[in-house]
Amino acid sequence: TRAEVSYFGAGPAPLPTHVLEAGAKAFVNFEDSGLSLAEISHRSPTATKILADTKQALISLLDIPDNYEVLFMHGGGSAEFSAVVFNMVAVWIEKRRRMAEKEFGDDQGAILRKVKQDVQHDMQLDYLVTGSWSLKASQEAANLLEPLTPNAINVATDARDSNGKFGSIPSDEKWSLSSSKRSAFVYYCDNETVDGVEFPGFPSGVEAQPGEEERLVIADMSSNFLSRPVDVQKHAVIFGGAQKNIGITDITLLIVRKDLLTTVPTPSFLHQVGMFSPPVVLNWSVVAKNNSLYNTMPIFSIWIAGEVMRSLLATYGITKLKGQEGFSDAKARTIYQMIDWYPQVFQPVVELNARSRMNICFRVKDPETEKEFLDGAKKLNLLGLNGHRSVGGVRASNYNAVPMQNVRKLTTYMEEFADRNP
Ligand code: PMP
Repeated sequence: TRAEVSYFGAGPAPLPTHVLEAGAKAFVNFEDSGLSLAEISHRSPTATKILADTKQALISLLDIPDNYEVLFMHGGGSAEFSAVVFNMVAVWIEKRRRMAEKEFGDDQGAILRKVKQDVQHDMQLDYLVTGSWSLKASQEAANLLEPLTPNAINVATDARDSNGKFGSIPSDEKWSLSSSKRSAFVYYCDNETVDGVEFPGFPSGVEAQPGEEERLVIADMSSNFLSRPVDVQKHAVIFGGAQKNIGITDITLLIVRKDLLTTVPTPSFLHQVGMFSPPVVLNWSVVAKNNSLYNTMPIFSIWIAGEVMRSLLATYGITKLKGQEGFSDAKARTIYQMIDWYPQVFQPVVELNARSRMNICFRVKDPETEKEFLDGAKKLNLLGLNGHRSVGGVRASNYNAVPMQNVRKLTTYMEEFADRNP
């Protein structure tokens, strides 16, 4: 039964049982309508209400200001790696087009020449690479832009050590961000799921200095969304796949500042300056104009996400995500304390100031003992503890729906194991 299993998988992740039970019902017969949520039209009044309610729950949980739009996207977090490039490059080009227009009036030829030159020589996309997912995002940007403007990607920091392993966040004096005039955006991944590296808070090193132009900050929050409050205003865009703290897979949530949706040049202008225009399903402006219903949306997944969010609102009341943060921190502390208690058996892989509260990664003594640890855990129904295939080790994922009781089952096992293997 569910009660017998403690699941620490990294994603998809555990969900509250009451949401799954309500989901099972809604999947067959939603609110006694005789129809499944998987059967109704995404344009029906029921679907429209589900979409609006889920959006509202997110706005309420994160205190999202009016000048931001919430979108539901397809293609997981990975599709947003590409979408960020397509959309933000267009925003940067439009800014430069407007500047050129001021300089050259209606001399379209001169405007085109100037912007084309800017794209080739000036445009920079800044990435903070602190783990496997931000690395992938930067590689996707390079892959897309390579044929058009090969030097546009600026890896402002690469946190890999001399063995090519992640496990720290270099201090911001060491970052080499491009100038704010040239930068289309600064990208960071708030929580690196594979490597267990999390920013302790907003990376203030990306903020513009007095007199500088603002930097547009993009955050991937796929694996720590809704685990703590977020200062939305400091971001241009926040995105995250739903399948960890939010719900089931199939939808990606995107919070985008509204002015970015209107600062877009025409596709033909983009083509004339040697740039692509965003594919339609990744085009945030198009998705926003269509209230996230440009094409068929998985309404069941959106409803599940809404249920999870309403459940958080009901649980934590006015403390909202501050309440969830307290709970997440307490669970993470319980596991890290046990790791630190037995340094001869367990070795954390991440520096203290970058330890993730969501994905707690550690090694066990030697490969043989580590295998024994993982096999023993499985026998006790402590599941999903294997580290990502690219890094190995142990990874205990502590998402919102993991109960303290399961964390205690894990730490009790760790303690017993450590005592047996001094
Ligand atoms: N970013 C982060 C931080 C992730 O953890 C993941 C998936 N685990 C992704 C992006 C990619 O998400 P998806 O599989 O939904 O494309």
